[in-house]
Amino acid sequence: MKIAMVGSGYVGLVSGACFADFGHDVVCIDKDQSKIDRLHDGVMPIYEPGLDSLVENNVRAGRLSFTTDLAEGIAGAGAIFIAVGTPSRRGDGHADLSFVHAVAREIGQSLSNDAVVVTKSTVPVGTGDEVERILAESGTPHRVAVVSNPEFLREGAAIGDFKRPDRIVIGAEDEFGREVMREVYRPLFLNESPILFVGRRTSELIKYAANAFLATKITFINEIADLCEKVGANVQDVARGIGMDNRIGAKFLHAGPGYGGSCFPKDTLALLKTAEDFESPVRIVEAVVKVNDSRKRAMGRKVLDALGGHDTARGKRVAMLGLTFKPNTDDMRDSPAIAVAQTLADAGVEITAFDPEGMEIAAPLMPEVEMKADPYAAIEGADAVVIVTEWDVFRALDLTRVKELAKAPVLVDLRNIYNPDDVREAGFHYTSVGRE
Ligand code: NAD
Repeated sequence: MKIAMVGSGYVGLVSGACFADFGHDVVCIDKDQSKIDRLHDGVMPIYEPGLDSLVENNVRAGRLSFTTDLAEGIAGAGAIFIAVGTPSRRGDGHADLSFVHAVAREIGQSLSNDAVVVTKSTVPVGTGDEVERILAESGTPHRVAVVSNPEFLREGAAIGDFKRPDRIVIGAEDEFGREVMREVYRPLFLNESPILFVGRRTSELIKYAANAFLATKITFINEIADLCEKVGANVQDVARGIGMDNRIGAKFLHAGPGYGGSCFPKDTLALLKTAEDFESPVRIVEAVVKVNDSRKRAMGRKVLDALGGHDTARGKRVAMLGLTFKPNTDDMRDSPAIAVAQTLADAGVEITAFDPEGMEIAAPLMPEVEMKADPYAAIEGADAVVIVTEWDVFRALDLTRVKELAKAPVLVDLRNIYNPDDVREAGFHYTSVGRE
């Protein structure tokens, strides 16, 4: 089947390349000319492990191509996916649907055959109805079904997640939509991946409920970590102790600097707005958003404490290791590193940093930070070293070298990747999250 993917970012490009790998004929469309030019040159516009070879193989096999021309890209496609961004709308936190609506309008004006239009972007309940209205308004003579198919992939593990999903959710209102989606996901049907057919509004809400639940789990363990610090308990052991209960599960119970990234912050806010609009409050999620917001700057204050306190921090220097919101991505959207750096800079602290993939995108967002070419260059002369993102390269630092290079042996581990006894034995003043 020919598939068109409108929006070739983290989700669109990965999904498009994976569909091509399943054997479909895929065109990835983006309005960003430089992105498409880079893809034509074989250069990936984002960092995602394994994506370059997946794209290269499928381009070479003639199953994957790129264009900025939507009309040309969707011609003959049986399924047209919308995978454009839905950021928080400035001012009120609602999901900004202007990109989704613009694409729907363009599809309506350009459609040259019957097709299923699929929203893969994360969109609030009722967006499918609106897309359907926009398409009808365009006066297209072709048969169109609007389907919701939210994406659950994680950046950094996106290809594996897409090809071996925990489940695929499809929200369709008619048999035409369901039929085409069965064909799109046939290879995964054969793999026996669970596929859940539900109503369109239900599908839209599943995505927000899933992200809000995961954000809640993270925030819960973060507050338990704070309590552990006060009562002399160890949050990692608490997480293990509760995570072994199948009803709870071990994942998403890692205490740290608060959730960030391109999804949880904006999706929890958008869910609150939907709840407000429908006068059906989700108070747990309200609390989660508040707690997480304050946590990021609290982590900055934790670093100031390790430096000897706010009042003596001015003029000292901190080395931040890791800037992206999680490892194995270059995505800096809402990364906790930004708030940590701001808190330090506000206290007059100078900052050097190293991140394996994120520095190019981080540099304009964090003008107060001096980027360095490797972790040890960032550490040289620092009064404290802070692990902000748990990239593998930071898991086995040469602690002797760190001690030699740093001005003071102070290590703040916001991801709990070191064993406290080992680090203290190596002569460091060590602070982590939720552990003595
Ligand atoms: P992104 O910003 O990386 O990509 C969006 C792309 O859409 C950009 O390249 C942009 O140029 C393009 N675009 C915007 N308007 C367009 C138009 N009119 N025509 C053609 N292209 C257009 O965003 P993303 O991270 O891929 O997220 C896309 C959607 O998927 C969002 O709704 C997001 O919430 C959801 N999602 C993201 C993730 C993730 O991990 N990033 C996971 C699941 C779901």
